[in-house]
Amino acid sequence: MKKIRVTIWNEYMPQQTRGAIYEAYPEGLHECIRLGIAAGDLEIRTATMDQPEQGLPDEVLNSTDVLVWWGHAGHEQVSDALVDKIQNRVLYGMGLIVLHSAHMSKIFRRLMGTRCRLNWREVGEKERLWVVAPEHPIAHGVPETFVVPHTEMYGEPFDIPDDGKIVFMSWYEGGNVFRSGVAFRRDNGKVFYFSPGHETFPIYRDPVILKIIGNAVRWAAPEEIFPERVTRRPEPVEKITTENPAKPQQALT
Ligand code: ZN
Repeated sequence: MKKIRVTIWNEYMPQQTRGAIYEAYPEGLHECIRLGIAAGDLEIRTATMDQPEQGLPDEVLNSTDVLVWWGHAGHEQVSDALVDKIQNRVLYGMGLIVLHSAHMSKIFRRLMGTRCRLNWREVGEKERLWVVAPEHPIAHGVPETFVVPHTEMYGEPFDIPDDGKIVFMSWYEGGNVFRSGVAFRRDNGKVFYFSPGHETFPIYRDPVILKIIGNAVRWAAPEEIFPERVTRRPEPVEKITTENPAKPQQALT
């Protein structure tokens, strides 16, 4: 069986290599997720912004079936040229899993076409998630409801388009609610936003959270990536007998 080629991208800014984030993920968030979702059907690499071409040179991007994206402080540093390339690759069929604070990443906002803002509060409160689409592949094997003991609250209203399939909903101790897992299609590509994953809590060590990310990767994996289509004026398949009412010089354009 062909393995799904997964690239886990993390901005991995210097502030992730010290202090509270380092304490939660001394190995790096990307490495924690890589080890946490590792399985025989996945071929996983990681990429960070400090690497050449921000971790995603063409040879990496063009051999990625599913890109997992975690970013927070460095969204604006991601080059627009790279965002263009990622967007195209998604439209051709690459899957994209957008985690936590990457709701404000350039690539997610580009693909959504909306501002993607939300409410937030960082007091380490409890979050309860509910599966609202148990039939969805991303929810397979996931308990009907489960708790993240300490989280950053992400609350409604969340400025995303309404063409997404809501797979998970969250309730927070402070009373807020949130669409915490939403699945979209953009042309040939599938996009999944999943909010749990604040960088100072060990949320990516939770087996249920990792199960969901693994499910999302498999759901988003394309059967085929379509290259750029060449647009042309095709020959008619039937004989056209209707007389063209346009004047000849107009018909030429
Ligand atoms: Zn956060």
